[in-house]
Amino acid sequence: MNIDEKLSILADAAKYDASCASSGARGRRAAPGGIGSTDGTGICHSYTPDGRCVSLLKLLLTNYCIYDCAYCINRRSSGVRRARFTPDDVVWLTLEFYRRNYIEGLFLSSGIIRDADYTMEQLIAVARTLRETHGFGGYIHLKTIPNAAPELIREAGRWADRLSINVELPTQTDLDALAPEKELTQIRRAMTVVKDSIAESREARGVRHGGRPASPPSFAPAGQATQMIVGATDASDAVILDAAASLYRGQRLRRVYFSAFSPIPDASSSLPVVAPPLVREHRLYQADWLMRFYGFTAPELTTPHAPNLDLAVDPKLAWALRNRERFPVDLNAADRSDLLRIPGVGVRSVERILSVRRWRRLRMEDLGRLRIALGRALPFIVVADHSPRGLGDALDLRERVVRRSQLDLFAAGQSARTGEL
Ligand code: SF4
Repeated sequence: MNIDEKLSILADAAKYDASCASSGARGRRAAPGGIGSTDGTGICHSYTPDGRCVSLLKLLLTNYCIYDCAYCINRRSSGVRRARFTPDDVVWLTLEFYRRNYIEGLFLSSGIIRDADYTMEQLIAVARTLRETHGFGGYIHLKTIPNAAPELIREAGRWADRLSINVELPTQTDLDALAPEKELTQIRRAMTVVKDSIAESREARGVRHGGRPASPPSFAPAGQATQMIVGATDASDAVILDAAASLYRGQRLRRVYFSAFSPIPDASSSLPVVAPPLVREHRLYQADWLMRFYGFTAPELTTPHAPNLDLAVDPKLAWALRNRERFPVDLNAADRSDLLRIPGVGVRSVERILSVRRWRRLRMEDLGRLRIALGRALPFIVVADHSPRGLGDALDLRERVVRRSQLDLFAAGQSARTGEL
């Protein structure tokens, strides 16, 4: 099989992994004689409409795998055509694509060949050769095999900008059903190795530079991420968000990526035959944003009665509709945390509100300049010349707000990228 055929098989096999966004890379220039950098033009983020990054060369080292995860097209029992790169193949491809300006870096994952340690060594060999032999300064994201030896995980972090270990499903019960060879405790243990190594590296470099973190940390400077598949089991959004919150809290993850399960050819009978609506993945990303930047907790975003996010309205609006007694909020008086809870008012708008109101009272005419999504926000806010009437009794509030939100459609498109909710 020639390298083009391998490339078409192994690039296609990698497309199911969503955890490849390259945000968070620290600036690094290539050493003299090397190529690539993570600054200057920076890591070029190209996102598909559903948020996936496409600027990296995204490959599997191989789609052979000794595991049999039901949701995966590369599982042992799948009839898919197999291929395998050598580490040198991947190094050559990365450099060729980079020189042609097609990519900003490499995202490399793999099926598990022989065993976890052997596979991890092969992945490390690619990253180490790129860095050491070719002075490659571009972005490298390595997928980490959970049960690889801790010293191999630490070695991977020396060469990669980001490491990710896919948790895949939110609970051990789900894993038992679809990926019985995987253990949540093992995955979390590997994440802890990455978390601790990042912390140690930062601390050591901070100490070396007189207490100031002066230069980029040498271990996985863009942190660690994971991916969760949505809709392959009947796990609710409440369970998924709780798992994500626990990973942010306990493992200091930079990102949890949600990937709507897509039915695969030759699928196992234990899987649903239809994919969940893509909007569910989008709502989970919005909820994730609310937890990371708006001060919401996972339990606030769903209810025991409705454990899945409302697909018709964004989760912040859904929360506001359930908590009408918290509104209206006076933009001229409320504190930051209450402002962040107003539908249609993003983090940057809150900063602008706090800044402008130091000098004068906010009025309706200011709201457009503050980039507030009026369709969603107006029923929930008070300004000097506006106060909504009868919010608490308005049984049709949801319908009215949803109708008015159509006006924010363009802004809602923006929010998918910026997280302004
Ligand atoms: S270990 Fe990874 S590549 Fe192998 S079957 Fe499971 S998900 Fe697929």
